[in-house]
Amino acid sequence: MNVLVINAGSSSLKYQLLDAQNGDVLAKGGAERIGLDHALIKHNSKGCDTVTLPMDLPNHKVAVQAVLSVLTSEEHGIIKGMDEIDAVGHRVVHGGEKFASSALITPEVKRAIRSCFDLAPLHNPPNMTGIEACEEAMPGVPQVAVFDTAFHQTMPAKAYMYALPYEMYEKHGVRKYGFHGTSHGYVARRAAEMMGKPYESVNIITCHLGNGSSIAAIEKGKCVDTTMGLTPLSGICMGTRSGDIDPAIVTFLMEKEKLDTKGVDNMMNKQSGVLGISGVSSDFRDLYAAAGEGNKRARLALDIFKYQCRKYIGMYAAAMGGVDAVVFTAGIGENTADIRQGACEGLTYMGCEIDPYRNASVRGREAVVSTDESKVKVLVVPTNEELAIARETARICGFSI
Ligand code: AMP
Repeated sequence: MNVLVINAGSSSLKYQLLDAQNGDVLAKGGAERIGLDHALIKHNSKGCDTVTLPMDLPNHKVAVQAVLSVLTSEEHGIIKGMDEIDAVGHRVVHGGEKFASSALITPEVKRAIRSCFDLAPLHNPPNMTGIEACEEAMPGVPQVAVFDTAFHQTMPAKAYMYALPYEMYEKHGVRKYGFHGTSHGYVARRAAEMMGKPYESVNIITCHLGNGSSIAAIEKGKCVDTTMGLTPLSGICMGTRSGDIDPAIVTFLMEKEKLDTKGVDNMMNKQSGVLGISGVSSDFRDLYAAAGEGNKRARLALDIFKYQCRKYIGMYAAAMGGVDAVVFTAGIGENTADIRQGACEGLTYMGCEIDPYRNASVRGREAVVSTDESKVKVLVVPTNEELAIARETARICGFSI
């Protein structure tokens, strides 16, 4: 069955058309600059060159219609007609406490997604725009919402509650939700398969290390803790996000730097992380290049990142009373042997030993990178959120795959 996976941002709309059965990507691309001048669609159909198609895209509805006409066009398309799209799966960032699983979109589900707008003001509104644009453009085709937060809803209260007045949770929903859930769930299941063990029988720590990074503790198939919180700002430091800091720094800097709430929010989300420390870049490739030329702050940013990963791996092993596998995924986790090495440095005491030669040879592919003797397996598993969303969509629609 063919599933169209949609990830709608405020002025963009990324898409993939997949065969959910075998994971074959039939086409992928993105509409960019929706609602702005010089809008365009970048499109790639399987086996063809990527094409850039400038077009007028005043809103998301027009963008969805344009994507559908590209997918079905004689020149660039891959399917003959809309009837070859069996369902649409939407990435929705925040499902609050209402969604512990993906959901077939109904008026009630849309109301519930809207009620989470406050919790993800930059993401949920454009996600909803994408849903409504697809509903209008493809009436009758089932639409499914797949939430980044749903996977983490199994966390116990002792893990998700903050030690703030309890009323803040009751009144405003202030608690840990966690993000990247689709990715954590996908790579953890895949890791269990690679180990030849039932997913429900192993403890896994998944390290999703990309532009945004988070780590999750998955005990016998259930997420029990994760580093991101109410928002995707907490946990390990990221490309431009600070990760965990002393919360008092916020008001301290507001006074010292004369910042308002927007200003301090901007600093923590956009000017911090490895970019803030290094002053060089948020991209790890640039950091390695700079560190290689002797840039001390770039080296420090890399050291901080590795140290924080290592601390959370130790913390989550303790939280679960032991761990069977540590999994690295996303842009940095899949491609950077030095980060994996650093994150597992000094963990031999708990039976986690990386093989430096195996590790150095792995980039962007599935592999075991621990030694044969290591009690804790260290694995690299490229994430595939689109395939996970397509499979979830098929499952919710009752298609057997
Ligand atoms: P993601 O958000 O998963 O796309 O990851 C993006 C980040 O992964 C970038 O900021 C890079 O720092 C890092 N990255 C991607 N490819 C590579 C690579 N080949 N080598 C090192 N780092 C990479």
